[in-house]
Amino acid sequence: MLKRQPPSKLVVGKALARRAILADHQRKVLDELLWKAERGYEGEQRADDHWDDLHIAEPYVLLHGFEAVSSRGYTHQIDTILVTAHFVLIVELKNIAGVLTYEERSHQFLREQNGERMSLTDPFAQVERHEMFIRQLIDGIGVKLPVLSAIIMTSSSSILENMPERFHIFKLAGLRFKLQEWNNTYPVQVLESMVSLVRNELLAHHQPKKWQHPFGKVLIQRGALCLCGEVMQYRRGKFACRCGHTSSEAFFEGLHDYRLLVDEWITSKGLRDFLFITSKDVANKLLVRANFYYEGNTKSRRYLIPEDIWRK
Ligand SMILES: [Zn+2]
Repeated sequence: MLKRQPPSKLVVGKALARRAILADHQRKVLDELLWKAERGYEGEQRADDHWDDLHIAEPYVLLHGFEAVSSRGYTHQIDTILVTAHFVLIVELKNIAGVLTYEERSHQFLREQNGERMSLTDPFAQVERHEMFIRQLIDGIGVKLPVLSAIIMTSSSSILENMPERFHIFKLAGLRFKLQEWNNTYPVQVLESMVSLVRNELLAHHQPKKWQHPFGKVLIQRGALCLCGEVMQYRRGKFACRCGHTSSEAFFEGLHDYRLLVDEWITSKGLRDFLFITSKDVANKLLVRANFYYEGNTKSRRYLIPEDIWRK
């Protein structure tokens, strides 16, 4: 099993929103990106809860948020992969409201909402790419399993019109019935042990990547940030703000942002500069207490900031 993590775009985007010094038009782009990423993640979580409630033919493996790079260097971000002894299913989740239509001739996936028409990325081309990639991986280990793909709409208010027959596109509520249908269409194809073999092969290729933001080199606001927007000072074991707020979490939040926006490694000097800590001893003490993995001797020591240092 692979549990879904918050998308990198959302995590890095939030850190940018907190600290990047952006021009107004960049801020607008970031807000829109974040809004979309939030909606997508909400839909993904809704879908993940739904899987828990289904009775899937055993044995099965569910991989949520799979990411890999093909031998030709192309990235594949797959929302969910289900592996059973019947088939492999690739799922693309879409949290889009409005009326959705597809014009097959022009490969246009259109959305209409409040009288406005918009062209969106062709999801069918997307899943076909993923399908080919996964088929190659499975063929490579000699497992003969049909690879299917589906686009599942996670928004209850989306309306599907004119969708091509040869693709599977449906609302989340239809998943249960589709799985039953496919189980009948594809009776058990392989031994149970093959399901684990496929899982291992897929996990060996799973390689999540950090989102690269589109703003180029940006100035980052340093300091432990208070909810009021001010920079806090470190005093007697805590960060304290002029507004009266104190925080013991600000240290972790600061390092979390540092890891995403500056570097995953930090030195004692780097910490002092970033969080405006004047005392060498205090900075060292904080780093020792945090118990990070480190490299180098005392003078040139650098500490690895863990991925899960802070979550929000
Ligand atoms: Zn404050």
